[in-house]
Amino acid sequence: MTRIDDLPVRSELRGQTPYGAPALEAPISLNVNENPYPLPEPLVRAMAERVREVAGGLNRYPDRDARELRAGLAGYVTRATGHPVGARQVWAANGSNEVLQQLFQAFGGPDRRALGFEPSYTMHALIARNSGTTWVPCMRDERFDIDLRAARDILAEQRPHLVLITSPNNPTGAAIPAEAVLELYDAAQRARPCMVVVDEAYGEFSDRPSLVPLVEGRPHLVVTRTMSKAFGAAGLRVGYLVADPGVVDAVQLVRLPYHLSTVTQALAMVALEHSDTLLGYVERLRYERRRIVVELREIGYDVDESDASFVQFGPFDDTRRAWQALLDHGVLIRDNGVPRRLRASVGTPAENDAFLRAARAVRHEAR
Ligand code: PMP
Repeated sequence: MTRIDDLPVRSELRGQTPYGAPALEAPISLNVNENPYPLPEPLVRAMAERVREVAGGLNRYPDRDARELRAGLAGYVTRATGHPVGARQVWAANGSNEVLQQLFQAFGGPDRRALGFEPSYTMHALIARNSGTTWVPCMRDERFDIDLRAARDILAEQRPHLVLITSPNNPTGAAIPAEAVLELYDAAQRARPCMVVVDEAYGEFSDRPSLVPLVEGRPHLVVTRTMSKAFGAAGLRVGYLVADPGVVDAVQLVRLPYHLSTVTQALAMVALEHSDTLLGYVERLRYERRRIVVELREIGYDVDESDASFVQFGPFDDTRRAWQALLDHGVLIRDNGVPRRLRASVGTPAENDAFLRAARAVRHEAR
C-alpha cells in the first residue's frame, strides 16, 4: 500500500496524523465534548416528518444561501443573547469547523499570519496549516488565562491578519471577559486591520454573557457558534457565525456552492423550533458541571474554572498513565497534551457518578 509520504503530498502534511481523539470503545465515553442527551422523541418524530417533506425535492440543489436557516439562527441568537441580530449578519456551514475554515480561506492564506492563545482548540492551528496560513501561538499564563500584556506585545510584533480567541476555552474551560476581548481587538487593530474571531462553541454553558453583542460597530469581529454542543446535535453538522454583513459577503466568496444540504438545513430548522427543550439540557449539564468541580476538589484534585460542558483537572505526574488508569475503570476521557492535565466532558448524572468513582479510585491508587 502506498503511504502518504510516498505521494507528492504538500510538504507540511508529511509525517502528520489526522486530527481526532483515539477511537476507543469504553462503557463511559466522556472524551469528545458531546452532549450526552439523545434528542427527545417529539423532536425525532418532527425531524423524520420534515425529512419526508423535503425528500421529494432532493432532485434540486439546496438553498445556496440557507436563507431560512440563517433567519432562524438569527432569531435564536437574538432570543438567547438579548441582542438583536439579523439574518444578514449570520452565516452557516457544516459545523463551526467549516465556518472557521471559510474564515481562514477568506482572511488567511499564504503570506498571512493567524495568532491564537494556547493551549486551546488545536483545530485552529490545523485549519491555519491547511489554508497555508502561518500559525503564531501565544502561550496562556499558568492559570490558562490570556496574559494581556504579553498579548499586546506579540500582537504589535507579529501583526497577525487573524486572531483566534476561544471563549469558553477548550480544553481549559474558562470564558474570557468582554473587556479583555475588546483590549485584544483594539491591540490587534493598532498593528493592522485584523479579523478577530471569537470561537464561542460552548457559549451557552457559560456563566458569562455571550460575546455576540460586541460585533456591533466592529466589522473586524466575528463570533462563531455551533449546534453541536448546546443543541446536542453534533451529528447534524451545523455551525454559524455572527458578524457584520460584510464578513458574510466575504465568506460567500470562498464557500463551495450548495455546501449545506437540504436535509441539514431542514433538520436544523426543526431543532431550532425545539430550542427551549434542548436548552433545558444545558441547564442540567451546567448543574452537573458544578457538581463535578466540587466533587473532584473534594477528592483532592486541582480543577480549572469551567464555563463549558467539560472540566480540566490534575495534576498528574504522568497524564498518559492516569488516562489509562481511568480507562481501566471503564471511563474514557481526553488527554489534550496540556501538561499534567486531563479533560472530561460532562455526561449524564449516572455517567458523572461513574467518572467520579473512577477519579477517586485512581487518586487512591496513585498514593
Ligand atoms: N470550536 C471549539 C472550541 C470546539 O471545541 C469544537 C468542537 N470540539 C468546535 C469549534 C467545532 O465544532 P463543530 O464543528 O461541531 O461545530
